[in-house]
Amino acid sequence: MSKVIIIGAGGVGNVVAKKCAQNDSVFTEVLIATRTVSKADKIVAEIHQHLPDSKTQFSTASVDADNVPALVELFNAFKPELVINVALPYQDLTIMDACLETGVHYLDTANYEPLDVAKFEYSWQWAYRQRFEEAGLMALLGCGFDPGATNIFTAHHAKHHFSEIHYLDIIDCNNGDHGKAFATNFNPEINIREITANGRYYENGEWIETKPLEISQDIYYPKVATRKSFVLYHEELESLVLNFPTIKRARFWMTFGENYIKHLNVLEGIGMTSIVPIDFRGLKVAPIEFLKAVLPAPESLAENYTGQTCIGVQAKGIGKDGQEKVHFVYNVCDHAETYKEVQAQGVSYTTGVPAMIGAALMLQGVWKKVGVHNVEEFDPDPFIAEMNKWGLKVDELAGIELVKA
Ligand code: NDP
Repeated sequence: MSKVIIIGAGGVGNVVAKKCAQNDSVFTEVLIATRTVSKADKIVAEIHQHLPDSKTQFSTASVDADNVPALVELFNAFKPELVINVALPYQDLTIMDACLETGVHYLDTANYEPLDVAKFEYSWQWAYRQRFEEAGLMALLGCGFDPGATNIFTAHHAKHHFSEIHYLDIIDCNNGDHGKAFATNFNPEINIREITANGRYYENGEWIETKPLEISQDIYYPKVATRKSFVLYHEELESLVLNFPTIKRARFWMTFGENYIKHLNVLEGIGMTSIVPIDFRGLKVAPIEFLKAVLPAPESLAENYTGQTCIGVQAKGIGKDGQEKVHFVYNVCDHAETYKEVQAQGVSYTTGVPAMIGAALMLQGVWKKVGVHNVEEFDPDPFIAEMNKWGLKVDELAGIELVKA
């Protein structure tokens, strides 16, 4: 039924491609285009090995997604309906430009970030709204897990449980163990930029800035563990407080182990996490890019990963019955299970499955609205139904306050 291009063949691209292969009545032809084409070829070989009955036709291509004319040429040759962008946030705008030029719908999982400034905000991509509307095209932003499923869980709270959400806490725990001294679960450069930046949360109409990892508390993650969790800024907060204006405070919490923080402190202390290029033997190299080359690739962690992730959204406010209430919506994902299914660790899996689901809902016309949109603007019910169907079971917990004021 539908032709799609996936851009990026890293940890997340691998999962998106394999879930498309499983959902072969929707995704009939898929081109995986990326910088290092051998990575795409490896994914296709694994699909043929592990999903031999899939009817999806796969092909691969090499492309530099920073280069709009190269993208335009590729899109014009393949003629996809939709592009799923799971390359890096730096490529969002060039891919959106190419979509506009060729009349292709767009989906991504992370907001645009300039290479030389660690700054997360939607303004650059929201500025494309009018052009997508005029072209009759849809761009769906942030359709991974966080952002993505967390926005959907918030929309689910608003639709089914609350007349007014006042306090929103998004909590993200990775209680897994990959056995390495130090590694990041997704692209190291993006991950480290996110964690070493100042924290920020929303309160009473203002953004409150914190030092990196300044605020913490122990949080119980149902079915998984109690873990020390830290407030950091995460991009979905920006769209959620706009789309749910009754919110008085919105925060994002993530777990980090002591060992992880110790390594990060040392790397930061000696300048290895800097994004400012230095001269090295006649080359300009950003230390963080060099660090990325030294660290294990996120997809290489998958094979021996054990443990689970638990990511969810706690809302507090006034329920549909007019009474105060607290409610939690979440998913628990097991690293070893996802490896068995798609040869990926849980962090790539929890991102790639929602990207495939968002793409399927767009292609089937279930979610359809021209312009540039965040996922919480759409009906959460079909998305949650698909999460339960495609490997991310959604659970709910009523009346227990996991995150304290
Ligand atoms: P990886 O680094 O594993 O993969 C990125 C892929 O993009 C690689 O195949 C890389 O190619 C390719 N790529 C990078 N630059 C270019 C370029 N200029 N042209 C073509 N291809 C390029 O990252 P992940 O798979 O872990 O993450 C993918 C995306 O998902 C990121 O944007 C990340 O921020 C986002 N993400 C979102 C989450 C969410 O919940 N919303 C959670 C986790 C990740 P090469 O192999 O040659 O380097």
